[in-house]
Amino acid sequence: MTLNELASYTAQQFAKNYGRAPRWIVAAPGRVNVIGEHTDYNDGFVLPTAIERYTVMAADLSADGKEVVYIRDTSGAEPAFIDCSVPVKPGPPKWSNYVRGVIAALLERGIKSGGLDVLLHSNLPIGGGLSSSAALETCTATLLETVTGKQIDPLEKALLCQQAEHEFAGVPCGIMDQFISILGRENHLLLLDCRSHQTEFVPMMDPSVTLLIINTNVKRRLDAGEYAKRRRQCEIAAKILGVPSLRDANAEQLEDAKSKISGVTFRRARHVIGEIERTLLAAEGIRALNWPTVGNLMYASHASLRDDYEVSCTELDAVVEAAEAIGVKGGVYGCRMTGGGFGGCAVALIKTDQAETIAKSIAAAYKTKTGLDATIFASRPAAGVTVIKGSRLIAQAGSHPPGGFNPRMIGRNSLAFAGDFFQRNRFRALATRGHHHAEHVFLNQITARAAKPRGQQTVRGRRRAAALYVAEDGHT
Ligand code: ADP
Ligand code: MG
Repeated sequence: MTLNELASYTAQQFAKNYGRAPRWIVAAPGRVNVIGEHTDYNDGFVLPTAIERYTVMAADLSADGKEVVYIRDTSGAEPAFIDCSVPVKPGPPKWSNYVRGVIAALLERGIKSGGLDVLLHSNLPIGGGLSSSAALETCTATLLETVTGKQIDPLEKALLCQQAEHEFAGVPCGIMDQFISILGRENHLLLLDCRSHQTEFVPMMDPSVTLLIINTNVKRRLDAGEYAKRRRQCEIAAKILGVPSLRDANAEQLEDAKSKISGVTFRRARHVIGEIERTLLAAEGIRALNWPTVGNLMYASHASLRDDYEVSCTELDAVVEAAEAIGVKGGVYGCRMTGGGFGGCAVALIKTDQAETIAKSIAAAYKTKTGLDATIFASRPAAGVTVIKGSRLIAQAGSHPPGGFNPRMIGRNSLAFAGDFFQRNRFRALATRGHHHAEHVFLNQITARAAKPRGQQTVRGRRRAAALYVAEDGHT
C-alpha cells in the first residue's frame, strides 16, 4: 500500500468513526537500522533509515468543544481519552502513554491543541523492532504542531519524544528512533553520531538496490537485565582502557589491554569497537555504491552480535544463513539482525528486481528451520514524518520533496549534496510542505548555505538572507 492509499484508508476510517472528514492527516514512518547495533550507548554511530511503513493519524477538532484528545485505534486497542484541561500524566490504556508523554511535553512548551478527535491506523508491526513506538510519538508531536501552527525545532522534537518514551512509557530508549522518524529523507540513510547528535545524510539513490526487512515474528527481546549487564560491561571495558567511552578506543588499544580484561568483557568491547568502525565504513561503501562491501560489513556485524555480543537467537541466525545461502548471485549482498536482539527483525541489502524471489526463498528456508512464518517486505529509504493533509499551502503536482534539510549535517559530501538539493528543490519544498514548516526548512537551507551555525543567526537575519536570496535569484 502506498502512503497515499494508507492515508486515504485512514481518512475513510476517520469518517466512519466520527461522521465527518478529517481536517489533518499526519504519517510517521518506522525505521530499520542498517548497521551500528549496540553502539548508541557507547557514544558511537548508527545508520538507520525510515521505511515505507507508517503510523497515521487523521484528526479534527473535537465536536463537543471539550479539551480532550480522544483516539480510536483501528487495531482494536482500547481507545484513549486524554484530558488536556488538567496536567497530563501517565494513565490507561498503556499504549496511550507514548501519546500522553508527547502531549505533556508540548503543553510545557505552551503548545496546546484543545480537544481533538483522532483516528490512529498503522501498517507497522507493533512491538516488532521497527519502532512503532517512535512513530506514534513523532506522529503525535507533528499532528499537534500542525493543529496549532507552532513549529518545534526538529532536534528538540526528537528529544522530547524520547523523553516521553523514557518518562511516560518507562522505556530507556536511545535517540536513534525518534531522530530517524523525524529526519528521514527519501533515498537516504542517516548517519547519526550518538555522542554529538550530529547527523549526515548518506544518499542511496541507486534504485537497483533495496532493503528487505524480515520479521522473525519472535517477540522475545533483550530483557532489561541482559541489556543493563551489557551496558555495564562496556563501561568496565572503557574504564580499563582509560577512555570516556568505547567510542574513543580502537582495536589495537583493546588488544594491548587484553590481559587486563575478562574474556566476556573483552568480547563485548570487541563488538562495539568493531561495529562503530563497520558503521562508518558502510556509510562510505554506500556513498561509493559498493554494495558487496556494504553487504559483507552487514554479515560481519551479524557474526559479531551473535558471537561476541551474544544477542542473536536461532531464528535470526536462520534468516541470515538463508540470505547468505542465496548469495550475491541470487541478489543478496548482505544480511544481519537489527534491533536489540533475541527476536524482532533482520535486514538484508538486496537487488531490487530479485526481491520477490529472495523473499520467498528466505521464507521457505526459515519455515523449514524453525517451523515459523516470517513476514517479509521490501522498502527503499523513506521520508520522515509528513503532514499529508492540513498544511496551509496545497501540494503541487510532482514528486514529494525529500524530508527537509537538516542544518546540523556534517561533512563535505553532505554539504555539497545539500547545496545540490537546495538548487533543485527550494521552491518545490516551499509549495509542498506546510507553510510554516517550509519557511523553517527554507531558512535553514539559507543558513546552511551561508555555512553559519543556525544558532548564530537571528530569525529576522535568516528571513532577510532568504529574501535577499530569493530576490537575487528572481524567483519571488
Ligand atoms: P517497537 O517500537 O519496536 O514497535 P516497542 O515495544 O518499543 O516496539 O513499542 C510498541 C508499543 O508501542 C506497543 O506495545 C504500544 O504500546 C505502542 N504502540 C505503537 N504503535 C501503536 C499503535 N498504532 N497503536 C497502539 N499502540 C501502539
Ligand atoms: Mg520502540
